[in-house]
Amino acid sequence: MDLKKYITIVPDWPKPGIQFKDITTLMDNGDAYRYATDQIVEYAREKEADLIVGPEARGFIIGCPVAYSLGVGFAPVRKEGKLPREVARVEYGLEYGKDVLTIHRDAIKPGQRVLITDDLLATGGTIEATIKLVEELGGVVAGIAFLIELSYLDGRNKLDGFDILTLMKY
Ligand code: AMP
Repeated sequence: MDLKKYITIVPDWPKPGIQFKDITTLMDNGDAYRYATDQIVEYAREKEADLIVGPEARGFIIGCPVAYSLGVGFAPVRKEGKLPREVARVEYGLEYGKDVLTIHRDAIKPGQRVLITDDLLATGGTIEATIKLVEELGGVVAGIAFLIELSYLDGRNKLDGFDILTLMKY
């Protein structure tokens, strides 16, 4: 299936010069959403993942159906102040300023093989921060799966040494 047919490119959104890759037109097509999910499920099986971890909010959209299909758990990575119990936290750089991601401290058991999911690899900053959280809790990053990779940004370099699956490249 040619998944790119289901991505809508929105020029100059949210600001001039950005070609926004809108995945909602893939998600609202049952066949395309299932096909994309199944590719990631197969990859997760190969990597023997026993937990899926994804950053809010689009990492949930990709990761939760994969976890359901495999019968493994899903642990959410969230912005600061959203998780109710003790968290691990990491600060990471944005284009302007900083942001913080958190995960519940008991979400990952040491040695668990974790597949990280998100919708799109741009600069890689979000996933680099997510990797830090997984490793701080003793998880092993078995692989990282995205629907889309923007290969003209240097995201892959930032994630050097990790196994990455992307279903579409621009
Ligand atoms: P990054 O941390 O730079 O790899 O990107 C963080 C998140 O920003 C991605 O997971 C996307 O959800 C979103 N994002 C960045 N660039 C785009 C884009 N051109 N189109 C759609 N989403 C984007």
